[in-house]
Amino acid sequence: MSRLVALLIAVASVRRVAAQTPAVDWEKLKPEILNDYRGLVQLDTTSGHETRAVDYLRKILEGAGIPTETFALEPDRANLVARLKGNGSKRPLLILAHTDVVGVQREKWPVDPFSATMKDGYVWGRGSKDDKPVLTANLIAMLLLKRLGVQLERDVIFLAESGEEADPAGVGINYMVREHFDKIDAEFAMTEGGGATINGTRVEMVNIGTAEKLPARVRLVANGMAGHGSIPRLDNSLIHLSAAVEKVGRWETPMRLNDTTRTYFEKLAGISSPEKAARYQALFNSKTAASAQQYLRENEPSLYSMLRTSVVPTMLKAGVGPNVIPSEAEATLDVRALPGEDLPKFFAEMAKVIGDPAVKIVPIPQTRPPSPASRLDTEMYRVMEQVAQTVYPGAAVLPSMSTGASDQAQLRAKGIQSYGIGPASTEDEALNYPPHGDVERLAESSLYPFVQYVWGVVTEIAMKGP
Ligand SMILES: [Zn+2]
Repeated sequence: MSRLVALLIAVASVRRVAAQTPAVDWEKLKPEILNDYRGLVQLDTTSGHETRAVDYLRKILEGAGIPTETFALEPDRANLVARLKGNGSKRPLLILAHTDVVGVQREKWPVDPFSATMKDGYVWGRGSKDDKPVLTANLIAMLLLKRLGVQLERDVIFLAESGEEADPAGVGINYMVREHFDKIDAEFAMTEGGGATINGTRVEMVNIGTAEKLPARVRLVANGMAGHGSIPRLDNSLIHLSAAVEKVGRWETPMRLNDTTRTYFEKLAGISSPEKAARYQALFNSKTAASAQQYLRENEPSLYSMLRTSVVPTMLKAGVGPNVIPSEAEATLDVRALPGEDLPKFFAEMAKVIGDPAVKIVPIPQTRPPSPASRLDTEMYRVMEQVAQTVYPGAAVLPSMSTGASDQAQLRAKGIQSYGIGPASTEDEALNYPPHGDVERLAESSLYPFVQYVWGVVTEIAMKGP
């Protein structure tokens, strides 16, 4: 390509952004955003009550002239889909959020957990972080697309799904993927699973979720002879089990980087103190990687977990009485596998680490499919990166791999390139008022830029060019 052609293309793409994005008066829109957000937080949508959110959303969307469809395996746990049609020249964009929230212990709350009380600059309530900001931002994006008559080259599909937090019956994403995939099939998806970090008064880091680990739990089962508690036996199942738990609990599983985590640690080094940066860079050098990992293991365990398939003992079960040697003892290991992990091979390694034929490794059926990481070289990722830098000037944008699990797994497993987002918070706030915590709240000032971010990405990726 000649330099002139390259220049013309560059100019054209810059002009497209400037000329096409419809102007939104965000100041004027704030009351509407806040009203819908609070309206959604005020609905008690703990598991089994998700249809309350569907009814709320349907009324607003239909009122704005956007047709909706509901899909319910159980009537009280419905899912809602709305679609704005594009010209079909590109495949759809799916914006989704879950409507359900985890339960509350009311006595821990300083306010009614479903009041969306505004106090000290925060909106307080269950779901105020997880996942009603995304639900609200997606709703506002749909309303604005319709209101401003934005011409689309992709369909934009809105999905409000039930049962993300607890779904033994498979009423949410599993149901939609299995029975109604044609309603949500898309090239790209955007949903919870990312976030942004505020340092002082500005957002310094935006995380785009591009991958997640796979829960691949196992039981360790030790067997021996039962007997009387007064007679020591070397084949006591408890002795064998506890030795095995100690070994796997301390096992340093192999470090393996993928595109997401490699880019993440490189970029993290770029915005960290010299001391921290040196440690993150040390991960890339075979001579220094071991001591850097050791440091993370002791001091930054969530980063340590991003480097490997992790093994965490979480439950023990054995014994019927103080004077009985149990013939069987078992432990549960919460194994979180990296994308692409060869699990049979991994469990064979684990058996070698345990080195005891009396202890068996029994996989527990997985609740989510294995999912590949989403790519970093897609149009969607580039747009998300670019819009993040516009909405949060000066912020570094990092792809991130969640050590937890989300409904993105089902989408990625179906070939959708799915990306995670979330509103910004300080590290303190994230620590003291986490999703699922005793008390949940979101700074009102984080809500509006987040809605703008979602709007920016949706228009930039789905809007028709000149
Ligand atoms: Zn969530």
